[in-house]
This record gives sequence, C-alpha cells and structure tokens, in this order.
Amino acid sequence: MTLNARHITCSECGAEKKQTNHWWIAFISAGSKLIAGMPRSIEFREWNDSDALAANAHHICGERCLGKVLSRFCKSIWTPPPGTPISIAKKEAA
Ligand SMILES: [Zn+2]
Repeated sequence: MTLNARHITCSECGAEKKQTNHWWIAFISAGSKLIAGMPRSIEFREWNDSDALAANAHHICGERCLGKVLSRFCKSIWTPPPGTPISIAKKEAA
C-alpha cells in the first residue's frame, strides 16, 4: 500500500495530512519493568514514507502535537520514589 492510497491523520489531534512537510513520526516502546535493560523509550523521526507505513508508527502533525506526545510520555514514565520529600523530587525531575 502506498502512502497516497492511505488516509493519514495525526495521532494526537486528528488533523489530516496533506502535502505539508512538517510532520513527524514517533515510535513509542512500552519497555518492561520486569526485564532489566528494557526501559520505555520514545523516538521521533522526521517524516519519511517508509517509516510512516510501519504498523507501530504514530503520525504527528507538527511541533505542537509532538510536544504533547512527549509531555504525556514523560509524565507517565517518571514518578518520585515512595517517601521522597517533594522538594528533592522536584529537583531531581528538573
Ligand atoms: Zn496534531
């Protein structure tokens, strides 16, 4: 299947891809807490047709939606250890 035959929409806001060239592709790995060396990860690639066709590709319409995806990913991945004072937790998160 070619990209021209597919209806591409932004995974974040639902915008339809047209001929613009500011789109990104995100690959998000869920990782595993049970297997050492398999942390969760996120990778952004500039738009290219072969990566865009990958089954696990997230299509992102631009910088604003890319920021939202990254922010949500970071918030879901980082939590202070139990018992960590809030002031220390904030400093470590910065
Ligand atoms: Zn979008």
